[in-house]
Amino acid sequence: KDAVEISLKDIDQLAKSSFPLCMRHMLDKLRENHHLKHGGRMQFGLFLKGAGLKLEDALAFWRAEFSQKVGSERFDKEYAYSIRHNYGKEGKRTDYTPYSCQKIISATPGVGDHHGCPYRHFGEENLRAALNKMGVSGHALEEIMDKVKNRHYQLACTLTFEATHGVSCDSGINHPNQYFSESQKVLRA
Ligand code: SF4
Repeated sequence: KDAVEISLKDIDQLAKSSFPLCMRHMLDKLRENHHLKHGGRMQFGLFLKGAGLKLEDALAFWRAEFSQKVGSERFDKEYAYSIRHNYGKEGKRTDYTPYSCQKIISATPGVGDHHGCPYRHFGEENLRAALNKMGVSGHALEEIMDKVKNRHYQLACTLTFEATHGVSCDSGINHPNQYFSESQKVLRA
């Protein structure tokens, strides 16, 4: 079986090794603010579901952060429902599918939003700093910035994957969950 299952205690470590920049950024912001707006909860929550985080763990994960901001009572009343909803446990029982890069890139995050694609939505300085934090610098970094300037965001993400994993990614990155599973394949090989 090659399906990866991620558990609550592994999230931060896996984020460092295997999450694409869009998802690292949201985890950072969630840890920092103990809150994410709706667009972020959807994009990040569905990614975590796709990465194999079980519903019970997802509820514990979001509750641990949000309760520091809004209290656990309000979390249970106002936010838990939508998390169960994402897992198809409420409402129409639709099983929501994690967002593709194309969908994330075409989002229009507003002030205070942290979803979207950093290659598309960050300013140059922030993007450079975020890539530096991932250990990308020098020639590799300039190549990535060049792709961004030409609006090839998924190619920029693919180059980041290659620079941080030391392997080529011939298929290219088209989905954050694909980035995650390709990364796990490389690291677990
Ligand atoms: Fe995330 Fe896709 Fe953008 Fe990479 S290209 S940061 S996986 S949305």
